[in-house]
Amino acid sequence: MERLSYDYFVFPGVTDRALRRYRAFLQPPGRRPRFPREAGCSCRGCSLDDVRHARDVLEKVLRRLPPRPRAELARQVHVLDRRYAERTLPDPLAPHRPWRSNRWWWRRQADGPEGT
Ligand SMILES: [Zn+2]
Repeated sequence: MERLSYDYFVFPGVTDRALRRYRAFLQPPGRRPRFPREAGCSCRGCSLDDVRHARDVLEKVLRRLPPRPRAELARQVHVLDRRYAERTLPDPLAPHRPWRSNRWWWRRQADGPEGT
């Protein structure tokens, strides 16, 4: 599926990288909230630094996989989704941001761009 993709952001190995990135974001123990950050560079490799982009990629992959692998990946992603929902804070301004606001993982409070 990755190899046959025409989507710039879906390339060989990306599912594994996106999953690792998602897991790493939620890794720090404790209850302190986590804030997604924009990636410093918009190429398809660096974009994965933004956990929300990593989750976008996982969504694309999920939609394209055949049923069995999709169910398998969905189980892993949904476990992480629950943790993400717990560890991030809702963004009160989300309804006023038209871009990508249909994806719930973007409607969370974020930190600014990397390095600001
Ligand atoms: Zn880059």
